[in-house]
Amino acid sequence: MPGFELFGAAERKEVNDVLETGILMRYGFDGPRKGIWKAKELEQEICKTFNVGHAHLLSSGTAALTTAMAALGIGAGDEIIMPTFTFVASFEAVLSVGAIPVLVDIDDTLTLDPQAVENAITPHTKAVMPVHMCGSMAQMDELKAICEKHKLILLEDACQAIGASYKGKSVGTIGAAGTFSFDFVKIITCAEGGAVITNNEEIYKKCDQYSDHGHDHMGKDRGADLHPYLGYNYRISELHAAVGLAQVRRLNEFLIIQKRNHSIIYEVLKNVEGLSFRRIPDPAGDTGSFLSFFLPTEEMTRNAVTELAAAGITGNFYWYDNNWHYVRKWQHLQSGSWMHRFPEQQKMQVMHYTNQAFPASDAIMGRCVSSSVSLLWSEAQAQERAEKMAGILKSVITKHSLTA
Ligand SMILES: *Cc1c(COP(=O)(O)O)cnc(C)c1O
Repeated sequence: MPGFELFGAAERKEVNDVLETGILMRYGFDGPRKGIWKAKELEQEICKTFNVGHAHLLSSGTAALTTAMAALGIGAGDEIIMPTFTFVASFEAVLSVGAIPVLVDIDDTLTLDPQAVENAITPHTKAVMPVHMCGSMAQMDELKAICEKHKLILLEDACQAIGASYKGKSVGTIGAAGTFSFDFVKIITCAEGGAVITNNEEIYKKCDQYSDHGHDHMGKDRGADLHPYLGYNYRISELHAAVGLAQVRRLNEFLIIQKRNHSIIYEVLKNVEGLSFRRIPDPAGDTGSFLSFFLPTEEMTRNAVTELAAAGITGNFYWYDNNWHYVRKWQHLQSGSWMHRFPEQQKMQVMHYTNQAFPASDAIMGRCVSSSVSLLWSEAQAQERAEKMAGILKSVITKHSLTA
């Protein structure tokens, strides 16, 4: 899955450009930087690669989500509909702007169930935030139609799906805004970084201001900049942007290897009787960073995960037990464990939503394994892994069927 696996000469070259001048900041220092603007260049490259009007870089994907929400006017008391299966960062971002995360079920796409979204809409709903989990995409036509019908903002968390597309459009460019994460384990990395992408210039400008203390960036002198709005510091550094610049240019190279290895594994596993696969709304747009599949029961799934690990086959994620990706294990939110005082209403609502039962999501996540796909495998290695996995999965399923 991750671009860090192929970190190399191209990344070093871009970082060295910055080290030559020593100007590590993305704004200002026009003379001494000698024409080196890595953050700006990466933003342009993102616009070109994903066919989107504007891109603004941030210090992380979490910061990108927070910034996008602020720029979209999402704030105190607003309800944001989001899935039970996501990385906890999506949740943190909603809280950071004072809004209320309203969790709803996912379906066999591992992303928002459109019917569950429709059912959760109240007069306080402001936005719907699909999360394109594990390299694949949400059901965007359905979600877009719901947002249009109810006049809601569609904000895409595309942090895990850089390079995925839906009906020809890059994920992240379908809603009012979308976000990418370039943290160390994402499809491409800056070490740490993120981006907001949008076709709306106003939203883009607000992101640029919000992430730099509100600076309007209109003049030559930072000290003389005006601050039309309150902002914070979520800036990316030139060193981080330099790594990302090399990586985004290699995205296609990564995707080709990833899709090849993904397809090798899938072609073998699809013959395992009893195994089923994640539904992909637009299979042509899948990045192949994970192959997610379902076993018939939770018990079989748990056994399969144990057996795969025992056989030394790493990278098989059982999110149902993972502390970071599924609501079931978000005890800090369920118990309202805040370091500092929180608005009482927001805290009560967070505890309410995270303590709900989600039987539909449980029934899916309890049987789901996401197997990550490495860029480092040769075709022969992918084939060997696939056959080992198939053998283990077959034997787990057969054993249970015999004893059932
Ligand atoms: C990684 C991730 C984020 C946050 O990104 P960071 O860069 O790690 O802050 C947000 N949402 C999802 C779904 C992610 O996987």
